[in-house]
Amino acid sequence: MAALYRRNVIAGLAGLTAIGLGAPLAWGNQIAKKRIARPTPPPRPKLVFLDPGHGGKDPGARGVRGTKEKVVVLAVARELQRQLQAGGRYRVMLTRASDRFVALRERVARAQAAKADLFLSLHADAHPDSDVRGASVYTLSEDASDREAAALAARENRADAVVSGVRLAGQLDNVARTLVAMSQRGTVNDSRRLADTIVRTFGRSGVRLLRRSHRQAGFAVLTSPDIPAALIELGYLSNPQDEKLLTVRQHQIALARALRASVDAHFGTGIATRKA
Ligand SMILES: [Zn+2]
Repeated sequence: MAALYRRNVIAGLAGLTAIGLGAPLAWGNQIAKKRIARPTPPPRPKLVFLDPGHGGKDPGARGVRGTKEKVVVLAVARELQRQLQAGGRYRVMLTRASDRFVALRERVARAQAAKADLFLSLHADAHPDSDVRGASVYTLSEDASDREAAALAARENRADAVVSGVRLAGQLDNVARTLVAMSQRGTVNDSRRLADTIVRTFGRSGVRLLRRSHRQAGFAVLTSPDIPAALIELGYLSNPQDEKLLTVRQHQIALARALRASVDAHFGTGIATRKA
């Protein structure tokens, strides 16, 4: 389900409970009239949220020659920001633009507050086996997604929780659960398509990939219920070749270029899905 359609469906569901199920016909007419009367807003540039992992007191993984994850992921994020902004099609925000610590949930909260259209978390991995190398892309696993949906819907104080533009406060419990679950399910599907696009683009761009390069996990930064999100491990700092590459400017630029192409493809595909 495309994000825009999902938002409309969810807003509709919330409206049903607000008005009551007694007068669905009248409600339907009202919505129809409102839709016709409303002028079409000009297209808003998509807001891409980039999340360079770690920072400040948390250096992340450390390479065999001492390269710090927090430094290389920030370099790639800034280059990607530059490339995305250069085309004029996107607004770009960073969860951190310097070497400082930002808590994981805070990163998600900032993207939510800014109503981001896409969230990309950039990392570099480490492995006890120094032969392991290559990039991989993670999306939120179904288990983790269900847990998040249940936790958000059940939260005692939902006063400030907003999902797909609908305030959860005042919604019945089962409606809140349905809203979050619907939104999250659609977002997980969008995120998986995004991850497959990144893997394909990396492959075409000559970026070395880990075997089984699209994986699922319960990363906290991927838990936004309505923003498609992926976490990209750009390579292994525990592998000497990968570590060297990650510090080479040309390789950082190439990684950013492949990610920019993935973002272009993601939004291009989104429009095609909505038309279908
Ligand atoms: Zn990391």
